[in-house]
Amino acid sequence: MKRYPMVGEKTAVVTGASTGIGRATARMLKARGWRVFPAARSRTDLDLLRGEGFQPVELDLSDPDSVDYAAKEVLELSQGVIGAVVNNAGYGQPGALEDLSRSAVRKQFETNVIGTLDFTNRFIPVLRAQKSGRIVLVSSVVGRVVIPFLGAYSASKFALEAIGDGLRMELGPAGISVSLVEPGPIKTCFRKRVVSEAARGGLEMRDSVFAKQYAKELAGPERTYARPTDVFQKPPEAVAKKIVHALESRCPRARYPVTGAAWLGDFAARFFPARLKDRLLVSKVIGREVG
Ligand code: NAP
Repeated sequence: MKRYPMVGEKTAVVTGASTGIGRATARMLKARGWRVFPAARSRTDLDLLRGEGFQPVELDLSDPDSVDYAAKEVLELSQGVIGAVVNNAGYGQPGALEDLSRSAVRKQFETNVIGTLDFTNRFIPVLRAQKSGRIVLVSSVVGRVVIPFLGAYSASKFALEAIGDGLRMELGPAGISVSLVEPGPIKTCFRKRVVSEAARGGLEMRDSVFAKQYAKELAGPERTYARPTDVFQKPPEAVAKKIVHALESRCPRARYPVTGAAWLGDFAARFFPARLKDRLLVSKVIGREVG
């Protein structure tokens, strides 16, 4: 396993720190002596993070100006030193691919992929100059196996996986490690947000051949297509622990599946024939109602 230099200054920026995995990671790193700059979008969340003793930065990944401003702010606050960039922010656009508007797909990629890479790139010159640093990309089990009705989200996480592999090869020789963290179902607001995204208008629900499934699955905040994997669900701290390993170990891993579902997804991606994967997922997620 490749060994990397430990970071000189334990300084990290964590995106999507208003809730869930990002917040758990920011807190865990802080408790371990890291100086953490958590990024969030709303004023309320920024104030709450300030109340916890953080120096938060405002960041909306879908807005290029916000990415530019936030990265500059982090580097100003840290006096140009950064040990780790934890790219955690993201959301899931629900819906069958055929029912998604161009703008819904674009927004999904702007946030989960393009904004994430843009934000990361702002720190790479600093990491290269330091000859050390850690980059984490929070991907997903659906970055390994596509789940029907989460196709756009899956596509964004597949893209993130490719970016992780590319960055790892490009930055490894400079002493910078890049790790992909691949959670399965984690107990956060994520699912609630999947449901709220459906109501934003980028998904054609009423005239879809899947109208019945949408009505059933997107009716309440607790319902989404991923429920068969609930038995594997873990708290956000389980993901935060893997992120800590990626930041603090001399031998950070390329990939960290989190939860049994993620290990299963990784195994299925590598060893199951496509037809078998399709059959399992179609019967679990789509059911028999639609041909
Ligand atoms: P969450 O509680 O919904 O948190 C998502 C975070 O991303 C929030 O802080 C949110 O900020 C932020 N975010 C969303 N869009 C953003 C944008 N345009 N700009 C900046 N920040 C944005 O969900 P979570 O479970 O902690 O998700 C964290 C990561 O884990 C995501 O990348 C997700 O894809 C991945 N993941 C989650 C699960 C799961 O089951 N929970 C499974 C696999 C992978 P606001 O509060 O301002 O919206």
